[in-house]
Amino acid sequence: MKKIISFILILIVLLIGCSNKEKDNNNIQYSKTEEIIGTVISGTIYGENSKEALCEAFERAEYIEKIMSVKIQDSEISNLNNTAFNNEVKVSNELFYVLEKAMYYSKLTEGAFDFTIGGLIDLWAIGTENAKVPKHEEIINLLELDNYKNIQINSENKTVKFLKDTVKIDLGAIAKGYVADEMKKVICEKYNIHSGILNLGGNVIAIGKKNNNSLWKVGICNPINNSYVIATLESSDETVVTSGNYERYFIENGMKYHHILDPNTGYPANSGLISTTIVTESSIDADALSTATYVLGLDKSKELVESIDNVEGVFITEDMVIDMTSGINNRIKVIQNDT
Ligand code: ADP
Ligand code: MG
Repeated sequence: MKKIISFILILIVLLIGCSNKEKDNNNIQYSKTEEIIGTVISGTIYGENSKEALCEAFERAEYIEKIMSVKIQDSEISNLNNTAFNNEVKVSNELFYVLEKAMYYSKLTEGAFDFTIGGLIDLWAIGTENAKVPKHEEIINLLELDNYKNIQINSENKTVKFLKDTVKIDLGAIAKGYVADEMKKVICEKYNIHSGILNLGGNVIAIGKKNNNSLWKVGICNPINNSYVIATLESSDETVVTSGNYERYFIENGMKYHHILDPNTGYPANSGLISTTIVTESSIDADALSTATYVLGLDKSKELVESIDNVEGVFITEDMVIDMTSGINNRIKVIQNDT
């Protein structure tokens, strides 16, 4: 009898062992977190070769950082900023793609998104230890309306030329979106993996579904207390990108100065919105639009986003009203909390 019982026990253990192994093969999972391009990037993906795929995706992010970070002295963008005044400079395919997108959104939003306000961004230095409220005259000196018009982009030769020596490009509002798209490309196209999630400091990409076939749940932070989530949406094969006044800021004399500047005034955008979320397919588009809508304010943003196919927006006003475009209404679940 004892023998039979122990045989059954061994059989059960073996069966559990087998099914776990099978399950493991179907659910090979790899997670990684690293700080790249000024943001914490974390990812979890499921599938065969998930470790190689995610590591290569992170390498791609580092490669792009070396092209697009103005914080790196000899990055391609830093070299371009130093040499392109009155001079046609040939740029890499990666940089050209992002610059063309940046120009497109600068024009589309009539300069609410403006990738050429690097001088202003340096002056405020928000997010660094030198952050301070600049003198009003300093801001006015740098404020040149429609600054992006002072850049010429030549699509045939892939060259860029600055028409004014004050122009300085900053890709902080769009490069992270590009990095997210490129990381996804490595994972999906090169490694044929179609389940995972990437988060680049508020830029989320949901790849396929979870390994249990359910949708990903993406949270939108409460902008007043970003350790809480204020709304969620279920997501698959799309990106959810949020710009908020809580990401990078400093407080001086009781005033909060955040990192999204209104290129019209030279001061942190004060449009009545404190959080803007864009939901669409490509993260580079979502990134540019989340920054632009933050500057544009509720009415213009809703109108703009409604006019673009397959793009939705969720906007939170300073009075904590949550508003959104028509196509996402039934997907957003608002979470009540006491903050
Ligand atoms: P985050 O980087 O926190 O996700 P955003 O995508 O909105 O937020 O980008 C903000 C960054 O973009 C700023 O830190 C600055 O480098 C740059 N930036 C600020 N204001 C603008 C603007 N109006 N147009 C384009 N870039 C901007
Ligand atoms: Mg952005």
